[in-house]
Amino acid sequence: MTVLDKILDLRSDTTTRPTEEMREAMRNAEVGDVVLRDDPTVEKLEKMGAELFGKEACLFTATGTMSNQTAVLSMTGKGEQIIVHEHAHIYNLELSALAQICGVQARPVATVDGRYDLDHLRENIISASIQNPPTTLVCMENSFNLNKGLAVDKAHIDEVCKIAHSHDIPVYMDGARILNAALALEIPVKELCENVDAVSVCLTKGLACPIGSLLAGSKETIEKARRMRQMLGGGWRQAGIVAAAGIVALNNIDSLKADHEKAEILAKGLKDLGFGIDMNQVQTNIINVDLTPLNMESEEFCALLAEKNIKAKNIGKTNVRMICHKDIEFEDLDTVLDTLKEILQ
Ligand SMILES: *Cc1c(COP(=O)(O)O)cnc(C)c1O
Repeated sequence: MTVLDKILDLRSDTTTRPTEEMREAMRNAEVGDVVLRDDPTVEKLEKMGAELFGKEACLFTATGTMSNQTAVLSMTGKGEQIIVHEHAHIYNLELSALAQICGVQARPVATVDGRYDLDHLRENIISASIQNPPTTLVCMENSFNLNKGLAVDKAHIDEVCKIAHSHDIPVYMDGARILNAALALEIPVKELCENVDAVSVCLTKGLACPIGSLLAGSKETIEKARRMRQMLGGGWRQAGIVAAAGIVALNNIDSLKADHEKAEILAKGLKDLGFGIDMNQVQTNIINVDLTPLNMESEEFCALLAEKNIKAKNIGKTNVRMICHKDIEFEDLDTVLDTLKEILQ
């Protein structure tokens, strides 16, 4: 059986390597000191980020996790309550930083495909009383669920914002892959985020940056966020070196479209081979593959693929995740499908 020379890593769109253009930009980056506010490359990236999201200001942080926690620290106070999707990254996959670092109480609320039931949302917004900590932030995530990548539409986001704002509560959007969501919805990301008070994006997901995330919001929120980032150890001096890659990334956002096309092709191929695929849920670059129709379990499946230099992510007993990105070429999709055919024989 054939074994590829190249490793096709479908585990995540974070596995991409920086492009030559990025490496060149990083090499030539003009830098200063971020804490002293004189790194021109970081300042430029932050300006681009603010424009991209249509917000007053923007902050360059190291990771999506740092953006999330910086945002919560900037928008809440200790002991307050914040509403999160029960399956949200910020609540499940950040080492209880909401409790440990922000000192807030997360109030997980059920969602269907990243959408709150609006009545349920209203019921979960609590006013301060002798016994109740007040709800002071509503969090959302788009694309929703790192194992599905579902695009949450503007109409729903706007409804959530309207409810939150009617209680004078801001809305924070964890937009690690919001550029994917905006492309899938065919709407400028600025418009999609029009009513949220702050939004983040990962430059490392699909966009090929080695490091970095952006947090955009009002001038006031971002000024506070700058101090919170510092507190978290994010006063990262000559960060212009990495911001230079971010600038290249923001100039290439449309490249993500190809990843969605690849995911659709791969998902259809997988479905034809008998894997359980819900095509309605293949909306961006992420495919959630159910192995039960083929009587396989993920551990065994991932191991068989790995032997062929193809990597998929085990996300449960019978489910794996595959993500398309720039380092998976269109022609690699045939290789993946042919290899799977061999395995299934
Ligand atoms: C990846 C991700 C994060 C965290 O980003 P890191 O850069 O890995 O810290 C946060 N939220 C969502 C929805 C993500 O997919």
